[in-house]
Amino acid sequence: MYKHKVLITEDQIIRRVEELALELNKQYGEKTLDVVCVLKGATIFMADLIRKLNMPVRTHFVQVSTYGTGSESSGTVSLHFSTVADLLDRDVILLEDILDTGITLDYLLKHLKEKKPRSIQVCVLLDKPTKRKVNLQPHFRGFEIPDEFVIGYGLDYQELGRNLRFIAALDPSEYKP
Ligand code: 5GP
Ligand code: MG
Repeated sequence: MYKHKVLITEDQIIRRVEELALELNKQYGEKTLDVVCVLKGATIFMADLIRKLNMPVRTHFVQVSTYGTGSESSGTVSLHFSTVADLLDRDVILLEDILDTGITLDYLLKHLKEKKPRSIQVCVLLDKPTKRKVNLQPHFRGFEIPDEFVIGYGLDYQELGRNLRFIAALDPSEYKP
């Protein structure tokens, strides 16, 4: 595995995910929730979070393509894959691993709003507010982190690292030139 430094431990993640679920349970009550998971990074987060929710939950998956596979987000996003059929009058949570520049979630919010949900809110596990290029605040957020490239708990670097049980900063020496 890559050289890394643990930023958020497994215990901290478990506790925070429980708190987020509590907030969602409080805010949505008995309403059926449509959770849209952004592939692939948010899958572990989704699996843990929805099992702590008390209301009926539907799951959907979307995947976007962004140009470049390195450690820097690029500016061009397109929809690559989606299981979303109908969201008309539904209460939707858009679930993402990390909010960085905001370009990905901004694109997906616009795309999903075209399906005319009753409500749509963003829930992210991690937030890197210093890198924002689009004015976007998550409604629910697990942790704020500094501007470091992170792996683990679903997040990868060149497809590896998703199965780590904690979140770690990738050692800069691992970045491909
Ligand atoms: P944004 O469009 O907000 O700049 O970037 C969001 C996407 O960039 C995330 O869904 C994630 O795929 C990727 N990303 C941004 N920062 C990181 C990071 O520190 N680690 C990993 N693994 N992916 C990141
Ligand atoms: Mg992602």
